[in-house]
Amino acid sequence: MSGLSTFRCLACGASFPLAGSLTACAACGGLLDIVSELRAFGRTGDAWRDLFDRRRAAASSEATRPFETSGVWRFREHVLPDLPESGIVSKPEGATRLYAAGALGDELAFSRLFVKHEGENPTLSFKDRGMTAGVSWARTSGFSTVACASTGDTSAALAAYAAEVPGMRAVVLLPDAKITDEQLSQALAYGASTLGLDTDFDGCMRLVAELTAARPVLLLNSKNPVRIEGQKTIGWEIVQDLGWRVPDWIVVPVGNAGNVSAIGKGLREWLDLGIIAKKPRLAGVQAAAADPFYQSYRKGFSERVTRVAGETAASAIRIGAPVSHPRAEREIRFFDGVVESVTEVELLDAFALANRHGLAICPNSGVALAGAAKLRREGVIQKDDLVVVVATAHALKFAGTMSAYHRGGGRLANPPRRLPATLDAILAALDAPRGA
Ligand SMILES: *Cc1c(COP(=O)(O)O)cnc(C)c1O
Ligand SMILES: [Zn+2]
Repeated sequence: MSGLSTFRCLACGASFPLAGSLTACAACGGLLDIVSELRAFGRTGDAWRDLFDRRRAAASSEATRPFETSGVWRFREHVLPDLPESGIVSKPEGATRLYAAGALGDELAFSRLFVKHEGENPTLSFKDRGMTAGVSWARTSGFSTVACASTGDTSAALAAYAAEVPGMRAVVLLPDAKITDEQLSQALAYGASTLGLDTDFDGCMRLVAELTAARPVLLLNSKNPVRIEGQKTIGWEIVQDLGWRVPDWIVVPVGNAGNVSAIGKGLREWLDLGIIAKKPRLAGVQAAAADPFYQSYRKGFSERVTRVAGETAASAIRIGAPVSHPRAEREIRFFDGVVESVTEVELLDAFALANRHGLAICPNSGVALAGAAKLRREGVIQKDDLVVVVATAHALKFAGTMSAYHRGGGRLANPPRRLPATLDAILAALDAPRGA
């Protein structure tokens, strides 16, 4: 099928045919959505669920092309229905694990807590789901250069997917000294033109918009609605992983607000297609140092707040002017959602606590977990609610932060010890009380 999707402006409602070069409304400059006529396939909710279950079961045994094992392209009719299969650039990605966090849940007074570990993607963050869609789209639309501003993970994903396409150049604009070395080295290793700028993420975002307006370069930040289409699959996988049960809550860290928007949009589409029958509630969580979306929520969204984002260990969400604010506001309203904000101590302790339970999630994921714990304490989330926390990246992208926490004085710090090389010293150390 083709001709199923159009762009629609969230601000003025204008519609445009899909075109690779369009990343904002041609009439008013507003944010675009992709709207697809998914009912045109004529399948029932049951038929879709069967199709996706068959694909997942066949993914390891019968797959011949990478995208057939992808957790994004498993749902390809609902991602970019007009994209030819031959255009797909897939590693593959998605199909990440959903962990039942029993002991961690007990500690935080949840009886049914799950963690969807997006750090298990090829470049160790959920951004791969958006980039498989974005780079496939760029290639099919004839672009040979793609660009993004990044807090670290978008650039790693962009670089890695562009590296799969012969002749494609990736350009990444990074706020100098505000992303981790691990993330920076990913962009370098995958061969991206990597430019560290003396500004913050919001400054990089403005400049990449100017760059892509001045040159035939496709903007692949989540402002581009194609990225959102790939990231919708997180919510869909969660529902399928749970045996087609819809959780009571999905809790997501929020930076530029593309991901919470994507999860919401996908689930709204599935409600419309009859694939699910109930709405989950959405919770977006920010770090107090960079919480404009939370501040806006506190005002009943009467005003779109922006601020200068302060320093936070959750550096992937250090953003003061979330580009997807209008999309995210729509989903928070539709899903009867809430927005929370957590302190540095709360997010770092939640990060360390999840790690302590063997879950290698990052500080940004710690923001979501800390937010879930706070909402639980406040009685907004009930003990028996089925809760899924989306862990957005892998702990080892933040190895420096992890090491600093354990060498510093955090509540769960587990510092290494140096000893003389003797058995006596080892035995004495093991017999001493922990933390002594
Ligand atoms: C990008 C990112 C986020 C935030 O996602 P947005 O779509 O910008 O809200 C959260 N965590 C990590 C690890 C990220 O890389
Ligand atoms: Zn418009």
